[in-house]
Amino acid sequence: MGKKRKRPGINLSRREFLAGAGGISLAVASQIARGQEGAWPPERPNILIIITDQLAQQAVGAYGDRWAQTPNIDSLAAKGVRFSKAYTNCPLCQPSRASFWTGRLIHETGVDSNGMNYPVPTLPESLPTLGAIFAAGGYETVHFGKQHDAGSLRGFKRVKSQEVELETHPAWPVNYDSKQDPYTAEKCVEFLKQPHKKPFLAVASLNNPHNICGWVEANAGVHEDIKPPVDLPPLPDNFEIDDLQNRPLPIQYLCCSHRRLAQASRWNETNYRHYLAAYYHYLSLADAQIGRILDALDSTPEARKTLVVFFSDHGDGMASHRMVTKQVSFYEETTRIPFIFAGWGVKKKGKLIQEPLVSLLDLLPTLCDYAGLPVPEGLHGESLVPWLEGERPEKRAEYVVSQWQTEWGYTVSPGRMIRTDRYKYTRYLEGDGEELYDLENDPGEKRNLIKDPEYAVALREHRALLEQHIEKTADPFFNLTVKADKRWRSHPLGYWNHRGPSAPEAAWLEKEKKK
Ligand code: ZN
Repeated sequence: MGKKRKRPGINLSRREFLAGAGGISLAVASQIARGQEGAWPPERPNILIIITDQLAQQAVGAYGDRWAQTPNIDSLAAKGVRFSKAYTNCPLCQPSRASFWTGRLIHETGVDSNGMNYPVPTLPESLPTLGAIFAAGGYETVHFGKQHDAGSLRGFKRVKSQEVELETHPAWPVNYDSKQDPYTAEKCVEFLKQPHKKPFLAVASLNNPHNICGWVEANAGVHEDIKPPVDLPPLPDNFEIDDLQNRPLPIQYLCCSHRRLAQASRWNETNYRHYLAAYYHYLSLADAQIGRILDALDSTPEARKTLVVFFSDHGDGMASHRMVTKQVSFYEETTRIPFIFAGWGVKKKGKLIQEPLVSLLDLLPTLCDYAGLPVPEGLHGESLVPWLEGERPEKRAEYVVSQWQTEWGYTVSPGRMIRTDRYKYTRYLEGDGEELYDLENDPGEKRNLIKDPEYAVALREHRALLEQHIEKTADPFFNLTVKADKRWRSHPLGYWNHRGPSAPEAAWLEKEKKK
């Protein structure tokens, strides 16, 4: 049973308050007409969204990581709630972003890759975006920093980032990722400190810890000569894949279709630990910028009527299963993301919400519900506002999903993930590959149970669940085309047996030769 929420004044839930004020149009109209900025409680709370790129949930201090230096994310978490079973809808930047800005799956947005050698349409005008909904609802909508959105930032005034020079340690070279973030933060800080005539929806979209991708390129192959100025983090206990022969083809040959994993394929264990040290370093750079933004907000009167939302577009392999960066695989490190809400309307402080399965598809319905704005029809996510208000709804999503198509089109190997309370089931079209993990007993996804007779019932149930989901969402998954050149499925198993370039690099080399 949900708690009763019929109390007067400030104890009204935010939704009841909005409903009592006559819904959106009246609330906006009365606020504008009477100049009621600063009224308390706020009829139209502000929302500040902070996004990192490529941050695994497990790398955040507030989620239990002992090596992380994330004091600012942690202090935000201490002021609000953080969801544990939180997933991205695609472990790749652009498709993930187009998905969470619209609340749609990647086969609905059509934005299913990063493009390059693969056609990516601009988001259809018919799909409402978060920015457009809030702009129409009377909000000032502004976005700072990384875009990579294929049109899904429609409705936001966008402020592009610029690079600033940074001092750096030789073990941790910086590229545009690290150089842009201070500018993004600075512009967001300036915005927060201005007086505001309307409630705002502001987004600070940081690049880091994505600089780790450039770090892999800079450290391709075995490297002996770098000396990070820190104790090296240990390898995770799921560093090795002991049953690689029992994994789907796209996982077995991930080194061949994934440029970064090809660059890392010959690394020794120390090199992987260098990787982790660098990853934590780039994360700490992002955290410092988050601190600037949160301090700026806290210095203004708007702070008390602002909801702060923090998440990442996807995670990072973090040396689990010998993987670096992201894409193709749906392992916890790449798909499970931090998802934190704090500020006006969030009742609990420092709470880890473990029960519900949530995903970035829930972002748009949650924020619309929170602000009393209409939620578009046909969305698969649901509002998390009851959880923010300290309730424990009995009806919860039975599963969350994630989808994969391709990074740049050189290898196309469509996959789907279904995550239920206890299990994770994946299916790849290529070679009919499947995985089943019992996350209660095997959180590191070390043993694929697909051939284990003890799990035959769970397997049957999850196959059926995926099929139902595909039908329900008109997902063309089973009719998609696989494109995987045999050359990239041929070396002896093991990423360390990879030789030469990956498929994307080989394609570029061929193109260069023809020039
Ligand atoms: Zn390979």
